[in-house]
Amino acid sequence: MTATSLRETSAADSGRETFASLNPATGDVVGTYPVTSAEEVDAALDRATAAATWWAGLGFDGRKDVMKRWKGVITRRMNQLAEVVHAETGKPHGDALLEIGLAIDHIAWASGHAKKVLGKQKVSSGMLMVNQSASVSYQPLGVVGVIGPWNYPVFTPMGSIAYALAAGNAVVFKPSEYTPGVGKWLVDSFAEVAGDHPVLQLITGFGPTGGALAGSPKVDKVAFTGSTATGKKVMAAAAENLTPVVIEAGGKDAMIVDADADLPAAVDAALWGAMGNAGQTCTGMERVYVHEKVYDEFVSQIVEAAREIRPGNDADAHYGPATMPSQLAVISDHVDDAIARGGRAVVGSADCVGERYVQPTILVDVPEDSRAITDETFGPTLVVNKVASMDEAVARTNATRYGLGASVFAKKSGSVIAQQIRSGMVSVNAVIAFAGIPALPFGGVGDSGFGRIHGPDGLKEFTYAHAVTNQRFKSALPLTSFKRTEKHEKTFTQMLTMLHGGKALDD
Ligand code: NAD
Repeated sequence: MTATSLRETSAADSGRETFASLNPATGDVVGTYPVTSAEEVDAALDRATAAATWWAGLGFDGRKDVMKRWKGVITRRMNQLAEVVHAETGKPHGDALLEIGLAIDHIAWASGHAKKVLGKQKVSSGMLMVNQSASVSYQPLGVVGVIGPWNYPVFTPMGSIAYALAAGNAVVFKPSEYTPGVGKWLVDSFAEVAGDHPVLQLITGFGPTGGALAGSPKVDKVAFTGSTATGKKVMAAAAENLTPVVIEAGGKDAMIVDADADLPAAVDAALWGAMGNAGQTCTGMERVYVHEKVYDEFVSQIVEAAREIRPGNDADAHYGPATMPSQLAVISDHVDDAIARGGRAVVGSADCVGERYVQPTILVDVPEDSRAITDETFGPTLVVNKVASMDEAVARTNATRYGLGASVFAKKSGSVIAQQIRSGMVSVNAVIAFAGIPALPFGGVGDSGFGRIHGPDGLKEFTYAHAVTNQRFKSALPLTSFKRTEKHEKTFTQMLTMLHGGKALDD
């Protein structure tokens, strides 16, 4: 039974359409939420516009103060929030705590650095405009619509919410239909510290609710995290009003293992990167390219280690069920396709996909044009293929329409290999380390999207640059005046030649 099948009209709420959020491990109803209509989205945006003025008026220090209190509330109640995440996604409590902890760190960084990154800064006015002083500041856009996925329902949307708020915007947040309870928890906790101002509001529902948000002329930017296919729809809706978007979409991240790598460390990272969160991580490991000199040893170690990993809903389980039941068919298709084309399952089998859980599955010798290599699987499966050189590993890693993250395990050439990978982020001798460093930008290229959350880029993403000049004294060269003469133009030409003419080739 999917959440969609529990869509119903509640008589108690005068014909209001509602939907249920389900526990993916048990099928139990975790909560019931309204399907926010287009009219209600519009009203939320009107409230947000008013709240944005108040929020921007607080200034960097005022906002930092509110966000500090918010971060305190979330930190003190981490376990409570982790239980909601566990109930709605099925991920282990410890994994939920990890994503909440990282999100808290991002709130701290965004609010703590907004003034320095976005506040007014003087810039050089240059030789030609020496009579002017020049400065730039980064102004809030107004209202940001955040549309989130379910796989990291706290960490992922927080990369947009915290940075948009710290930059001075109000936010209207539509969490995934699979995790509305997590979204509500976050919005309610912010309301506790923001008084009566609806600076962060919740809307719940399915695609059409997100579509109403993305397509509204009242939203000043849309921050979308989800699949590439939906990202295109969001962009099309936003294009109607020339609303800018940041798209954080899917990935097909690879790990490269060189001949001199610390193999036990690489095996540990590959396994966790692939199977953690049931493989439902946008920057999770889906492919590994191992140097032929250490390939057999790598495979033998990862097979051994994978035998210890198991899914379940108990406290000792390493990962939970597939949160979105429809993904099970995709995972099954990728494994079947890989095996049909000559790949071999060295851990798991074609029967790895159950009714709710997917058993750890490691495939080898998988042809590079099979779906397990070309498309996002989003399950606890991993392809481990052999390469003859690091050049080949880089070429295969880059032969994808995605470009989100990557990982390299190597002693000597780690940084050199990392520089050659076409992706938004790379971790050397670690996996997904970049996500936990708030000062680093997070985002992708190609089908993984564009724009950045996190770090200074993430703050600027939710602003517009505001440039101001201030004339300090009258210029001897009145260039922007009808009083300009031929003599002025001659002096101007001489100055330009001196500054930029360089040496002619025939001199
Ligand atoms: P999804 O695209 O199905 O849904 C994402 C959100 O978009 C949901 O809130 C959904 O209700 C909403 N939506 C659906 N149709 C819409 C429409 N027409 N207009 C506006 N909104 C609409 O994605 P998902 O299954 O929730 O998430 C999994 C995907 O997210 C994976 O591809 C994963 O790689 C990606 N992801 C990317 C990142 C990243 O930072 N790059 C992070 C996490 C997840």
